[in-house]
Amino acid sequence: MKKRYEVSEELNRSGSFVRVLLVYLLVCVIGVFVMISAINLLIKEHDKSLTTQICGLVAEKMNNSIKYMTTSAENMSALFSAEDHADLEELYEELRDTQGGGYISMGFVDENGRIYATETELGEFDKWDLMDTAELASPVSISAPYRSGLTGQPVFTLFSDMEYGGGKQGKLFLTYPLKEVQNIAYTEILDDESEIWLMDAESDNIIQCAGSNKYAIGSWANALLTFSNKIDPEDQEAYKNWKKSMENHIRSDAVVYHIGDVSYTQVYSEIDFMHGWNVVVRIPSSSMSSTMENFRTIVLVFTVMLLTATMVMFWISHKRDVEDKMILENLSIHDPLTGAMNRRAFDIAVKKHFEKSLKPDSSLLFIDIDYFKTVNDKYGHDAGDTVLTEFTALLKELFGENALIARYGGDEFLVFIKETSRSKTEYLLSELKRRVHEIRPAALDNDDMFKVSCSCGAAQYPDDSRDIEELKSYADAALYEVKESGRDGFKWYDGSLK
Ligand code: GH3
Ligand code: MG
Repeated sequence: MKKRYEVSEELNRSGSFVRVLLVYLLVCVIGVFVMISAINLLIKEHDKSLTTQICGLVAEKMNNSIKYMTTSAENMSALFSAEDHADLEELYEELRDTQGGGYISMGFVDENGRIYATETELGEFDKWDLMDTAELASPVSISAPYRSGLTGQPVFTLFSDMEYGGGKQGKLFLTYPLKEVQNIAYTEILDDESEIWLMDAESDNIIQCAGSNKYAIGSWANALLTFSNKIDPEDQEAYKNWKKSMENHIRSDAVVYHIGDVSYTQVYSEIDFMHGWNVVVRIPSSSMSSTMENFRTIVLVFTVMLLTATMVMFWISHKRDVEDKMILENLSIHDPLTGAMNRRAFDIAVKKHFEKSLKPDSSLLFIDIDYFKTVNDKYGHDAGDTVLTEFTALLKELFGENALIARYGGDEFLVFIKETSRSKTEYLLSELKRRVHEIRPAALDNDDMFKVSCSCGAAQYPDDSRDIEELKSYADAALYEVKESGRDGFKWYDGSLK
């Protein structure tokens, strides 16, 4: 009974501890999740701002170089305007003799739209509608990049207003290889995994300027086929918004998206003079945020270690707590000197027995050691203590598992023998009377005068009473009579108190 009670208590306690532990774990996991999310957000912001800076830098370099080209075109046309040629063939010859400047071809359009150029160049005007760009020049305009029939490489044509023949308006044109601009776009800050493109907002056409695929540099592609249809579905919306910003000529915007396991940060910046075209820088987060990612891993490992250590400490302290409680509980159930039950525990145990027993015949015994005070006085308190412990051990041995044994106070004991008859109890008591004389503390082995005896009063359930308190008083009365009649014996309650 007692054991089952303690085990269920222990289980209850462990159950609530496991619940506390689970709540603690949950709180920690949420904490770690929030922390990692915060770091991820930081990484994302860090990547965005870094990519934006790089893209801004590249765009600025490009804009500057295109501006430089337009300025040199303007200077050149100013020079020829000043010469005020009337003979256009001669003007064209002179233009073609002009050296340097990085362009691959140059020519002239007169006020009637007649083009002074080579056959191939004339073909380009037809194929790429270059006259549309020429008409926009005031004082300069730049065509969209196109694949040159001369070199097979991406080029663009720049038009600049030019006067001739006494105030007539013509256009000077210069065709530059895009490589000039691409080289300028390339920057040492970026590693191989990073890419730079020129991108047309309307057509989605891109021209690779820098990136891992060295052979693709300078080649044309389409954003749809190259990457945008591979973007993870949940990032498609963000990408579309980014593209819309580009189409609406917002100067710059950033987007973060995933293709498979890789996260990319992509930023565009508009190119001045080249209408609708943009510089795009795309950097995979792994190549930028390695320091931040290391930091995140360190935080994660540290947190897991801290969590484990806390849980181990938590567990140890809980174990200790439980052990302490069990010791305290034992103390509150058992008499610390003899290990017998105390009064309170005895009463509870007897009550529990009656709640469930099917064979209620039992005996209640009140036992008191005779002249115990003298043992103390003559042989000392320690000898008294030893007698008490040995006496308890004897009671346990004789009455066994089937009895509840309590130290009621001082040298007085209560024994409740379950499921027993009067004759069985009498036999046990006669054994007690015989064996109690054998109790002898080791220090008093040679003292012939030392002898322990005890007196016992007994009452039987349910013959004498069905009330436990009444049984106790009857057994006590019987004990009193044994003491009166000379001690060292036992007596049943004989009804004289009824
Ligand atoms: P009687 O035969 O009438 O019972 O005489 P007695 O001397 O045994 O008298 P009583 O039962 O009244 O005395 C109990 C004594 O037990 C009193 C007290 O000094 C002693 N005692 C009580 N508790 C302890 C204890 O824990 N250790 C020791 N050594 N003595 C105790
Ligand atoms: Mg006594």
